Amino acid sequence: MTIFKSIAIASALLAGTAVTAQEKFITIGTGGQTGVYFVVGQSICRLVNRDSATTGLKCTAPSTGGSIANINAIKAGDMDMGVAQSDWQFHAYNGSSQFEGDKFDKERAVFSVHSEPFTVIARADAGIESFDDLKGKRVNVGNPGSGQLATMEVVLAAKGWTMDDFALASELKPAEQAAALGDNKVDAIIYTVGHPNGSIQEAVSTVDAKLVPVQGEAIDKLVADNPFYAYASIPGGMYKGTDSDVKTFGVKATFVTSSDVADDVVYEVVKAVFDNFDRFKKLHPAFENLKEEEMITDGLSAPLHDGAVKYYKERGWME
Ligand code: GLU
Repeated sequence: MTIFKSIAIASALLAGTAVTAQEKFITIGTGGQTGVYFVVGQSICRLVNRDSATTGLKCTAPSTGGSIANINAIKAGDMDMGVAQSDWQFHAYNGSSQFEGDKFDKERAVFSVHSEPFTVIARADAGIESFDDLKGKRVNVGNPGSGQLATMEVVLAAKGWTMDDFALASELKPAEQAAALGDNKVDAIIYTVGHPNGSIQEAVSTVDAKLVPVQGEAIDKLVADNPFYAYASIPGGMYKGTDSDVKTFGVKATFVTSSDVADDVVYEVVKAVFDNFDRFKKLHPAFENLKEEEMITDGLSAPLHDGAVKYYKERGWME
């Protein structure tokens, strides 16, 4: 802080003037600490908070249950922004699937981030070579509020399965799931997540485990019928125990907000990210290949927030 600013603040305090009048606290919903959403939120806040002195914005990004929990918190006005899978961004805005009868008209897209393959990792000794082999096994299907649990339910419905097809369908959080796999409490874990991530890394360093492909007719139909699903592949060699690419399908991680959040707030957040984009991309390996032009279109189904549009126009990225 410059000496002049300190003096200005000190005299404002003496005069009883509210120098904090323009301070605004914003909260970003993330996911479990061992996932990538947590890093997205923490990274955005770190960049936003560098400019607090001029913008007045103070950003926090606590760990949450994930996509569905974030969307619901934004809808309720408890959080300002959050990370959510592109499938759940779509369903919330359109009032479909889990959001039937619970449409979030005010949902606004900000940008998309990394890709999130629907990931299955199994203990090497569990005899699981494909998604179909999960039948009769103990599977961690995802914690309540997470995108993976919600997307897993979609996959099960597409295959004509239910949770009863598993010997156990546990709902442990990402931070607990790797240990459960290592301790032989579950045979496999379902996680919709960017790669590499701490949770899968923890799993493969605790026990012999491998990524399992998710393919077949039901998946082909999901990808064909829904704009927010695409085929995805997890690169071989990324994790110990999985040397070749693993085919699955996936979504995008997206950043969402509400039209109730002020334009200048969203503008400043977007500006903090894209004015410092090279720095942002270095904050996680999953961000390495992000491209601005893709981030402002891919995986977005709710209308863009006006504050974001203002910045994208200024940069000449939109007409
Ligand atoms: N895709 C997960 C969810 O929607 C979160 C993944 C992560 O935390 O990186 O809940």
